Amino acid sequence: NAERAMHFVKNRGRAGVRFYQHQMSQSLLSRMKLDHSMRAALKAEEFFLVYQPQITLGTNDHLSVEALIRWQSPDQGLVSPASFIPLAEETGFIVQIGRWVLDETCKQLAKWRNAGYQIMASVNVSAVQFQQSGFVDEVAEALITHQLPAHALELELTESSLIKDVDEAIKRLRALADLGIRLAIDDFGTGYSNLAYLKQFPINTLKIDRSFIKNVPGQPVDEGLVSAMINMANALDLNIIAEGVETEQQQQFLQNAGCETYQGFLYYPPQSADAISEILLNTQTPSKPLRCTNRS
Ligand code: C2E
Ligand code: MG
Ligand code: MG
Ligand code: MG
Repeated sequence: NAERAMHFVKNRGRAGVRFYQHQMSQSLLSRMKLDHSMRAALKAEEFFLVYQPQITLGTNDHLSVEALIRWQSPDQGLVSPASFIPLAEETGFIVQIGRWVLDETCKQLAKWRNAGYQIMASVNVSAVQFQQSGFVDEVAEALITHQLPAHALELELTESSLIKDVDEAIKRLRALADLGIRLAIDDFGTGYSNLAYLKQFPINTLKIDRSFIKNVPGQPVDEGLVSAMINMANALDLNIIAEGVETEQQQQFLQNAGCETYQGFLYYPPQSADAISEILLNTQTPSKPLRCTNRS
């Protein structure tokens, strides 16, 4: 279809080098097929969410989980986000996917909270989505629709979302923070981590990228970088989460370095909403259902 083909051609100019690299590994035709099946998948409800707990030492009165998208395709099987999110970002379809993820997460979060559980969820927000002018309103609307207090929701942004137009990003972050939504920087350390900017962003949390955690303990450079990131988070009074913690040795290193919140296979893989309900059932005594007050 010609319109879609034009879209790719136009995009090629805009996305530049990144497009070129993708194009070398994936033909235009296969990209168009993927684009088409992705759009059909949203309508056919083939996307679903899994949730991965984040564990804080000495804390079990509430649970935090990150929502992660999955695609159960009838012909391709289970497709990981790494194979469709990048294309969705290039075509802009990520905006629709992102809306669905936000709504679905809020819907599930409301179910858990209305059953009396203390649970918060974080949602990944792509740069393209964050830069949409209506983004803040959409988030506010999702909270209202599902009667959720803002502090139950955290948004994970990457440094690339914030660096393009810093003043606009700060405005938008402020608006979200003013609503009471928590904000995290995802994959921290892989982008243009600018310390001066970091101080200005009204964020709550830094998530150290898995590529650093993978190499500790053992690789002195990454050990130093991880410690520096933890110290910096402490200096800025931010929460710090280590992503991709797989071993006791990693956890011990991180704890010694001052990081007490972990997300990784050592604790839990991402899992279904039902499996999360089971964890809640086994770890919390549900309180009387909370009314939405927008206070902590
Ligand atoms: P991310 O946000 O940094 O998510 C963490 C990724 O690390 C997840 O991969 C998770 O399954 C994986 N992970 C967690 N613990 C471990 C571990 O101990 N070892 C290893 N090897 N991996 C671990 P996943 O679910 O495949 O997602 C990959 C990326 O795709 C995410 O990285 C995020 O950037 C993107 N993504 C996923 N869901 C969404 C979404 O709903 N919206 C957007 N915009 N992006 C999403
Ligand atoms: Mg994330
Ligand atoms: Mg990450
Ligand atoms: Mg990521």
